[in-house]
Amino acid sequence: MATAEIITVGTELLLGQLVDTNTAAIAAALAEAGVDVYRQTSVGDNESRIAAAVGEALSRADAVICAGGLGPTVDDMTREAVAAAAHLPLQLDEPTLADLRAFFAGVNRPMTENNARQAMFPQGADILPNPNGTAPGFALDVGAKCVISLPGPPREMTPMLHDHVMPRLKRRFGLDSVIVTRVLRTVGMPESELDSRISDLFRASINPSIAVLAHLGQVDVKLTAKARSLEEALALINDLEPQVRTRIGDFIFSGDGQTLPQALGAAMRTRGWTIASAESITGGMIGNLLTSAAGSSQYYAGGTIAYSDEAKTSTLNVAPELIERHGAVSEEVAIAMAIGARELFHTTLGISTTGIAGPGGARRDKPLGLTYIALAKPGSDVHVERFHFSGEREAVQRRAALSALMLIWRAARPNVRND
Ligand code: ATP
Ligand code: MG
Repeated sequence: MATAEIITVGTELLLGQLVDTNTAAIAAALAEAGVDVYRQTSVGDNESRIAAAVGEALSRADAVICAGGLGPTVDDMTREAVAAAAHLPLQLDEPTLADLRAFFAGVNRPMTENNARQAMFPQGADILPNPNGTAPGFALDVGAKCVISLPGPPREMTPMLHDHVMPRLKRRFGLDSVIVTRVLRTVGMPESELDSRISDLFRASINPSIAVLAHLGQVDVKLTAKARSLEEALALINDLEPQVRTRIGDFIFSGDGQTLPQALGAAMRTRGWTIASAESITGGMIGNLLTSAAGSSQYYAGGTIAYSDEAKTSTLNVAPELIERHGAVSEEVAIAMAIGARELFHTTLGISTTGIAGPGGARRDKPLGLTYIALAKPGSDVHVERFHFSGEREAVQRRAALSALMLIWRAARPNVRND
């Protein structure tokens, strides 16, 4: 199994002036080919430090992929550094020089002396053509190992990576493994709890491996398998997935890339249900999320943004006494709003939100982030939950909207348990 390291070159990277997207692009391509990447380094435009980084990486890994510092200017010194690390001189490549001359003649610009540096390569290197720029890359064998050097601009680097570097590494290291990833997306269970439910699988599994990635209001469980063939990799994943599902299956809404609004929509369509929304704290986000799924008109009738007390009473028929007695942010008002939405739009379900997004508006008994979400179902059955969301205003609103979707999905999902 081959191992690789990535070195990106550029002082801008170290100063935080440039986000290093090249490392991510190279790492993703290597992972997909089954190459293990154990370390990634960024170095400034300094020849001896680049040479040291290349030398160290070569002492550990089979392949070292560098990006950046191949241009014509004085601060571009990756070619010199790689040559130094490999103890080789630089040599002029006449065909590359001829190409450079032709390029400058073609654009009617004089070719300055420094541009000729781009035709210099460590002795014995194979030149990798760059159709989108003037600086070619190169691949250099160093004993059983190799160093590959690519230009920094992503629009030049990326095609070269896919067209030249990956095929070369596959040939060179006999890479024939396949990586398959399946993402099980969950909502409604905190990351820490989810983690503890599957932590033993986590520890036991190297291939397939499990990773837990938390986003706002959603936690993904990523299963990755590496094998000689697609069938083998799929078999590894298919063995592990049921074990994960036994523990957290109730919270998984998709295993095939579907978003929560899409998964929820599929469940609603299967049941033949429709829904309407009554939004206060979420200000329309629920409607926005629901309609992000194609075909949502089949189950989403519409909604009201009832932000003021007056709007809650006049559009949703919430009794003014209810607001007076319990406050607009209360279980009682959430329930009345959900029922109101359901009746207004003549739907199977009604979903509502009312809460305190902040930064103002908190009271001792009603802290920032306090939110009630209610789901009205046929009959006078209403499910209501109290949440306490943390974060800035927008995060609170977004968490509230996603939690509302989670409640709808839970009610509509297949094989729903009576919990
Ligand atoms: P050039 O011939 O353009 O000078 P180069 O190979 O010398 O190419 P650099 O000088 O290191 O590359 O970088 C040129 C530009 O490429 C940077 O200003 C930046 O826009 C982009 N770039 C370089 N490295 C990265 C990186 N790691 N991630 C994203 N963009 C990068
Ligand atoms: Mg440069």
